Amino acid sequence: MDAGTSDSIQHVADVLVSCHYVVCLTGAGMSVESGIRPFRGPNGIWTEYGEPPLDDYRRFVTDPVGYWKGLLHPVGYYRELYAALEGAEPHQGYVALTELERVGVLKYIITQNIDGLHRKAGSSNVAEIHGSYLMCRCVSCGERFRREEVDVSSLPPRCFSCGGVIKSDVVVFGEPIPEDVARTCVDQADLADCMLLVGTSAYVYPAASFPRQVSAGGGTLVEIGPHPTEITEMCDVVVRGTAAEVLPQLADAVASRMDY
Ligand SMILES: [Zn+2]
Repeated sequence: MDAGTSDSIQHVADVLVSCHYVVCLTGAGMSVESGIRPFRGPNGIWTEYGEPPLDDYRRFVTDPVGYWKGLLHPVGYYRELYAALEGAEPHQGYVALTELERVGVLKYIITQNIDGLHRKAGSSNVAEIHGSYLMCRCVSCGERFRREEVDVSSLPPRCFSCGGVIKSDVVVFGEPIPEDVARTCVDQADLADCMLLVGTSAYVYPAASFPRQVSAGGGTLVEIGPHPTEITEMCDVVVRGTAAEVLPQLADAVASRMDY
């Protein structure tokens, strides 16, 4: 695709309906319209405050109590980020994805976002590749707990099942992507004959590998976003616009093509 071209929503709806297994990959651009600043880019929270240390995970392992104190009493960008996450509500683009799931067109969402908004909107099949800030996870057995279930009266909190140390489910620098999520993402990208890229430039690995995996398997890549990205050239179909603008129109166009 040329960077400046935009296909019609009707065309994308035809593509989605003709495919058998559509997977959606969402990134920071999806959350921006819900009031969450991206980490990177001109308005990025890390651009303003600086990137977190690359050895964040090692810091957690060597000092889990210090990590938890930081989590419970956030300062700097964490304070701003967590306030934004607490106040965020899913916009109409999220609702549209639940609609695409309900009619059976969208099979799975892989998101790079940690804000939990896809689940909050009501999507069922969601892989949160960088975790969810609403959840905590045992680093020994991988079991997840809702944040409010975790007893933080004694730090670090311990797993109810195995006694291992619990951290936030949010994946930090230097931390491996949890195996279960990583496996789900690879399996879903393998099944997909179409990937919808929404609000992501897909240049951060491992997310960057999924559209490439779909494309290499002969699948169709559809990009939805306001600006050209690193992945635009690889896409078969492109719609310029924001998620909250485009996805509701797309869900309507798909619904009008479905038999009930
Ligand atoms: Zn455990």
